[in-house]
Amino acid sequence: MHFHVNSIMNFATGDTYHEGRGLLRNMQGAARAAGAEFVAGDVVELSGRYPQFRVKTSPSYRTDDKSEYKAKILLIATGTARKHPQVDGKWRSWLPVANAGNAAFYCPDCEAPLCKDKEVLVVNTGTVGSALHVANSLTRFTDIGKIQILMTEDAYVPFETQDLSKLEDSPFSWTQGIIKSVEFPRIGVVQYVTLADRRRLRANVFFVAFVDEARSELAQQIGVEIDKKGNILTDHRGKTNIEGVWAAGDVRAITQQVAMAVGTGNYAGLMMNQFLGNEREVGQEFDHPDYRRALHID
Ligand SMILES: Cc1cc2nc3c(=O)[nH]c(=O)nc-3n(C[C@H](O)[C@H](O)[C@H](O)COP(=O)(O)OP(=O)(O)OC[C@H]3O[C@@H](n4cnc5c(N)ncnc54)[C@H](O)[C@@H]3O)c2cc1C
Repeated sequence: MHFHVNSIMNFATGDTYHEGRGLLRNMQGAARAAGAEFVAGDVVELSGRYPQFRVKTSPSYRTDDKSEYKAKILLIATGTARKHPQVDGKWRSWLPVANAGNAAFYCPDCEAPLCKDKEVLVVNTGTVGSALHVANSLTRFTDIGKIQILMTEDAYVPFETQDLSKLEDSPFSWTQGIIKSVEFPRIGVVQYVTLADRRRLRANVFFVAFVDEARSELAQQIGVEIDKKGNILTDHRGKTNIEGVWAAGDVRAITQQVAMAVGTGNYAGLMMNQFLGNEREVGQEFDHPDYRRALHID
């Protein structure tokens, strides 16, 4: 399958790294040049404690690596899982839309301006609140009358628990249903969603109001603390409550942006480097009471 790759917005990428893969290649190149090794594997288990963690991988549809790695310290950057809409009961059937390039947007902060003057179908996979958040963000760029919300009945949040009265009280037109098929004959101009009851909704573009789940289950296996939404809790440097373990990127409770992922990774990386250079001070300088007070840990 051919995947179109969208540009990265809100990041100083310029022409050189106009898409994610290019940026990743360049960053990996710099890390390799400094001696880093890359292994692709699906991690299924984390165990141990500082200074000897164990990382187990197992074969999956993505890699056939089956190994156990040892690590003195860890940086967890497992991101979040964003839920796509289902087409005829299968979320993978939505992927061609997600990868078509400007047929479906996801991030109101980055992509709402791309909907200027367009007819937008907000396809909801989460709560009424997330659908309204997306729809409200769009009103700065297109007329309210051009925005329609589709509440998918097979969303990840059970439909019967949704507070539909908030939609009734909103200025947006909305409908509900189960997506049977999707067509996008002219991307960004003519796109259709056909529902199980055969109604066909037409728009210029789709905007997915998604739910996401922090991928913190591995971190939890070694006792890393999370917040109510499942995001890993850290101090401002990215250090978790477990000695020798840092976290960076979307798995933390931060705005989900490449700049933040890079920035928090940079901060954590520097701190890990300092930690390795000052191991005799473990549990002292790197767990300073001032930080703990500021974070209300004590
Ligand atoms: C459609 C879309 C468009 C976006 N557009 C923009 C944009 O224009 N500008 C912007 O700044 N941000 C954008 N974002 C957000 C941005 O992509 C994220 O903020 C950023 O990628 C977070 O980086 P990360 O490294 O924390 O997580 P990720 O990029 O999600 O990386 C986490 C990695 O960990 C891997 N992983 C997880 N669990 C395991 C495991 N058990 N074993 C092995 N590997 C594992 C995952 O496979 C993944 O490769 C967009 C996001 C989406 C979904």
